[in-house]
Amino acid sequence: MSVHVIGAGLSGLAAACQLTELGHHVVVFESANFAGGRARSYFDKHLDCRIDNGNHLILSGNISTLSYLHRIGARRSLIGPNEPIFPFCNIENGENWTLRLNQGSFPWWVFFRSRRVPGTGLMHYKALLKLRSAGKAENIASALGGTVNGPLYHKLLKPLAIAALNTMPEKAAAQPLKTVLSETLERGGYASLPRWARLGLSETFIDPALEWLRARGAEIRLGERVTELTPGQATVLAVPPWVAAELLPGLTVPTEFESICNLHFKYSMDPGEAGFWGLIGGLAEWVFVRNGIVSVTISAANRYLEIDTDVIAQRVWAELAKAFSLSPELPLYRVLWEKRATMVTSPAQITRRPGTRTTNPNVVLAGDWTDTGLPATIEGAIRSGNAAAMALIRPTDDTPEPNQPRRV
Ligand SMILES: Cc1cc2nc3c(=O)[nH]c(=O)nc-3n(C[C@H](O)[C@H](O)[C@H](O)COP(=O)(O)OP(=O)(O)OC[C@H]3O[C@@H](n4cnc5c(N)ncnc54)[C@H](O)[C@@H]3O)c2cc1C
Repeated sequence: MSVHVIGAGLSGLAAACQLTELGHHVVVFESANFAGGRARSYFDKHLDCRIDNGNHLILSGNISTLSYLHRIGARRSLIGPNEPIFPFCNIENGENWTLRLNQGSFPWWVFFRSRRVPGTGLMHYKALLKLRSAGKAENIASALGGTVNGPLYHKLLKPLAIAALNTMPEKAAAQPLKTVLSETLERGGYASLPRWARLGLSETFIDPALEWLRARGAEIRLGERVTELTPGQATVLAVPPWVAAELLPGLTVPTEFESICNLHFKYSMDPGEAGFWGLIGGLAEWVFVRNGIVSVTISAANRYLEIDTDVIAQRVWAELAKAFSLSPELPLYRVLWEKRATMVTSPAQITRRPGTRTTNPNVVLAGDWTDTGLPATIEGAIRSGNAAAMALIRPTDDTPEPNQPRRV
């Protein structure tokens, strides 16, 4: 079969790889002059080095992502600590701690004060069980009930939830967080190793996929925007939701989006034990140290859209300088706003996520915004691409399960 894949983000590339592996001829159309969509690297003239459009963290429990990297020969291009550790720093009072999970699935780390979040006792961790019974319409804050006033919430669950769902917990749906935790933290340290691209997002996730596809006869057409679907043509539509709705009138899609702000500072600092920190009590939320660049992520950043970017850079650098005793002088920096970084993962918006199949039997959907059961992440995007590929080649009554991880 000849298949058109529209969009060369991670969902489109995952679908293209899956279909190519199964012997189909794939043509990928991408409107930009580069592939990668929301996960890409580029050379920044001002900083005189390559940077990513934003820090992307995955966990070792993201098995569809690891399978994708394995397929394209890039699994070894991820880095991260050998242990499942998550160092944190409270910018307000200088408090430092490291969450140290154990490798196995039984969480014996919670019995050790030195390994858990300071100020928390065993009972606090029971709160996580409340998420398991969260209903579809519930947000994280209400699912956790009274525990939202406790240290576990402020020092771990809230920063985790904001990062994973790119939505404030008072607004964010509990179910996708429940799924993330059940596939990572609840499976133990083996599934919770933090990982990120050693050189860059493109070098890990995108360029090896393009090479892999081209070597197997797939065509990649960059700079070709698709404005209408070809009738009767088998197609994976892997574009953002607003484009999908234009190409398929009547399709219900998420309509609210959240920003992510990334700041890249040209500065060399000690990467510490893990190479990254979670930050509490300031604007900056996660900081990564890599190749002479200190990169900061601020998620669910719509709340800061009114603040001037230079002011954000000054404030964030002042926080870093205080937390890590760095030079107070502002280094060269680049502030990158991704205004529609992901959909808002609220209960109302997730009901607008469409499944893989559409009313047109030749057209299937992929994208982190489709109904994967996961937040809008790399893992969700890749899983949606795999599911779209399978849906296209299976009879329509054999419904694929996009919300199930697929080992390929
Ligand atoms: C700053 C930032 C930080 C993030 N951090 C993380 C993280 O830490 N961990 C994590 O797991 N995820 C993270 N994400 C989310 C992750 O990047 C996305 O989930 C993933 O890249 C989405 O891939 P996609 O294929 O669904 O969509 P996209 O990447 O948006 O791909 C869609 C593609 O379609 C193309 N297109 C659009 N219209 C057309 C058309 N008419 N014709 C042809 N092509 C078209 C677009 O140019 C684009 O390349 C982050 C995202 C951002 C923006």
